[in-house]
Amino acid sequence: MPVLNSLDALIEALKRLPGVGQKSAQRMAYHLLQHDRLAMPRLADALTAAGENIKHCERCHTFSEAPICGVCADVERDARLLCVVETPADQAALERTASYRGYYFVLLGRLSPLDGIGTRQIGAAELLARAAEESVEEVILATSFTAEGEATAHVLAEALKARGIKSTRLARGVPVGSELEYVDLGTIAHALTDRR
Ligand SMILES: [Zn+2]
Repeated sequence: MPVLNSLDALIEALKRLPGVGQKSAQRMAYHLLQHDRLAMPRLADALTAAGENIKHCERCHTFSEAPICGVCADVERDARLLCVVETPADQAALERTASYRGYYFVLLGRLSPLDGIGTRQIGAAELLARAAEESVEEVILATSFTAEGEATAHVLAEALKARGIKSTRLARGVPVGSELEYVDLGTIAHALTDRR
């Protein structure tokens, strides 16, 4: 494979971002080079620092610079509630609604057997152990309303039930097929209040 020149390498790197195709990547690269050279080292530094410093919370698996994230470290939260989400972005979306005061467990994915993502990959065993902690009274399954998200919620609900742990699902109202991260805050807050 031929070595890319710097411009092509930059465009290729930008194309790795979600939603960025060849055209957008070119536009970004030309913009930076022509109008905002100062942003280039800043971007590079921010990317490097984030990549090096941000790890996963040891307790809930969301992104965190400390071994335990701010939510898990907050003793004022309601320890009776454990909310299961697919991604750190979903967790952040729920936090923004300010309508949930319990703790979280981030699966880092959803069941997708065709892609080789099974219960092990989403940390189901860790979730079950966490849910079995004495303080937990209800596990709220806030996986997305896509086919895979629904299947994930179903499998987890059955596993929790088998262990005598109560689980609820976010209410409908969140549009079918949608990722939580992109749903408006009011809708999420309602789905949370009306969970069943
Ligand atoms: Zn945490």
